[in-house]
Formats: sequence, C-alpha cells, structure tokens
Amino acid sequence: MTDSAQTAPPAIAIRDLQKRYAAQDGTEGTLALKGVSFDVPQGQIFGLLGPNGAGKSTLINILAGLVNKTAGSAEIWGFDIDASPRNAKRSIGIVPQEIVFDPFFTPFEVLENQAGFYGIAKRLRRSKELLDAVRLADKRDAYARTLSGGMKRRLLVAKAMVHSPPILVLDEPTAGVDVDLRRQLWELVTQLHEDGVTVVLTTHYLEEAEQLCDRIAIIDQGKLIANKPTRELVEMAREKIVRVTVDRDLAEAPAHEAFVKSEKLDERTAEITYNKDTMSAGQVLALMQQQGFIIDDVTTREADLEDVFVQLTGTG
Ligand code: ADP
Ligand code: MG
Repeated sequence: MTDSAQTAPPAIAIRDLQKRYAAQDGTEGTLALKGVSFDVPQGQIFGLLGPNGAGKSTLINILAGLVNKTAGSAEIWGFDIDASPRNAKRSIGIVPQEIVFDPFFTPFEVLENQAGFYGIAKRLRRSKELLDAVRLADKRDAYARTLSGGMKRRLLVAKAMVHSPPILVLDEPTAGVDVDLRRQLWELVTQLHEDGVTVVLTTHYLEEAEQLCDRIAIIDQGKLIANKPTRELVEMAREKIVRVTVDRDLAEAPAHEAFVKSEKLDERTAEITYNKDTMSAGQVLALMQQQGFIIDDVTTREADLEDVFVQLTGTG
C-alpha cells in the first residue's frame, strides 16, 4: 500500500474488544470475543478471516450497533461507537450475513426507504445510480421476493452504500454462493475499492482472502492470532507439499522422520508435507526411492493460507 495508508488515521480502530453472550440458564454464557485489538487502515481491502464460530459476526455486529460489547472500545472513522454512535453509524455500511428483506418492496423502494431512514433529501438520493452500479437497473420495480439470491446480495450492497459511507463491511458475502455470483461480488467490491471505499470482509474461505485482501487478520475462538499484509502472511508458510503417485498399491503412507506429515490419498497416491527450509522436493523423492518406491507422477504446491492457518492454530 501507499505511505498514506500507514500514516493516515485508521478507518477502524478496535481495542480490547470483548463480548460475552449471556446464557439463558444463569451459567457463564459464551465468551465470543476475548479482547481483540487491531486497526483497519484506510483505503484497503481488509480480510477478517476465521472458522465458523470464531467471533467474526459478533465483531461486525458490534460495529453495526446491533450487538452490545461487554468491554473494550471501537472507533469508526475516528468516531467512538459509545460517545458518537450516530456519526460512527453514518461512517459505515454493513452487508449482514443473513439476507433479510421485506418481500413486498421493490429494489428502488428498498433504497429509497433506506435513504429516508438516513434523512437524505430526495434530490441527493442515489437510488438509480446505485441500482446501475449493482446491475439491478432492470429490476428496479420488481418485488424483492422475485429476485434471485445473487440479486438480493447485490441489492444489500447497494443498500449499505445509500448514505455514501467511507467504509463498507461485508459479512461472509460469498458463503453458499455460486462461482458466478462470487465473481460479480468481487468485481463490485474491487470497483468500490477503486472508488476509494475502505472494504472489510469476513470469510472462512482462505483462498478468497488471499486473492482479494491487502491485509488479513485471523481470529480463532475469539482471539486475534495474526494481523499482517497478505504477502507476509503467505510467506509465513514454511511448509510445502508434494503429491506422489507410485507404481504399486501403498500399504500405508510413506514415512520418514524428515517429513512433517505424510498422508495416503488413495491406493497409489500420497501427499507429503515438508519444510522448505530444511529440504527440497527432490530430497523427498530420493527418500521415497530409497524405500523402494518407483515414482510415476509428482506435483508440488506452495503452502497457501489454509496451511498458514493450520500452522498458526495447530488445527485443520
Ligand atoms: P462467526 O461469525 O465467526 O462464525 P459468531 O460471531 O457468529 O462467529 O459466533 C461466535 C460465538 O458466539 C459462537 O460460539 C456462537 O455460538 C456465539 N454466539 C453468536 N451469537 C450469539 C447469540 N446471539 N447468543 C449467544 N451466543 C452467540
Ligand atoms: Mg458469521
């Protein structure tokens, strides 16, 4: 990123954020956020990554003013969510994880109602422009319930941008979404980013975060376990993987003390993980040949974020 991204005040600043959901039965409840701190730099696409139940939606919903935090603080565009809740809310647009619409409003009405909610004067409204941007101009007067899932998602993005916030947050925008729609959403996000909007997205798809985000924070079980530029995070993966097909059935996965991990994939194929600082793919193959295997086929791959995540959390 540019220098200004490092020196400008952060778009979002989160400090020691904690959330405990009260239990119904008087027991302790769930500690969904255990003191999370990080900044979202201005002008970036920032990925908040973590498995289901990590606390991503809890964090987003605190920023949205939908969930009350238990402790800690958050500033949005310089506005504290407790001291200046209205200004904080005006600075952020949120696309929630769940799609909820009144089925009897049309896309145009959904945007007009939202603009009314923010007290935006009729002549300053952007409903038409936003429908164009999310390619729903031809659905302007259709009932929301007749829209496809993908159209609804796009309408939600438009709805989140009605008050022209400098920050757009998308909570799991591509969970359960097909390839086509995913591409459409990414084009839309990339376009908004080019227009200067700071974008935060949560996802549990590591590949997606790797492709889109300038910077990635990882949370797991309510704790921040990483927060780095994407490239640095990927470089943290010291492990590489080689997939080997041999000429006869494997009784079990090939084993050697120098391998980090070895897994039998099918009768004749095994995947061996090794540390690229200590050995090469050639050495892995040589060790297998010493054990009497004749190798038919080999492919290697760099560790991706999935592997980084496994290395950071020690889970699969
Ligand atoms: P994520 O979005 O990363 O999947 P969530 O923030 O939805 O994670 O959930 C974090 C934890 O908080 C989970 O253990 C979840 O069960 C719990 N949780 C989320 N919402 C509520 C709620 N309204 N009441 C009680 N527990 C909740
Ligand atoms: Mg969630």
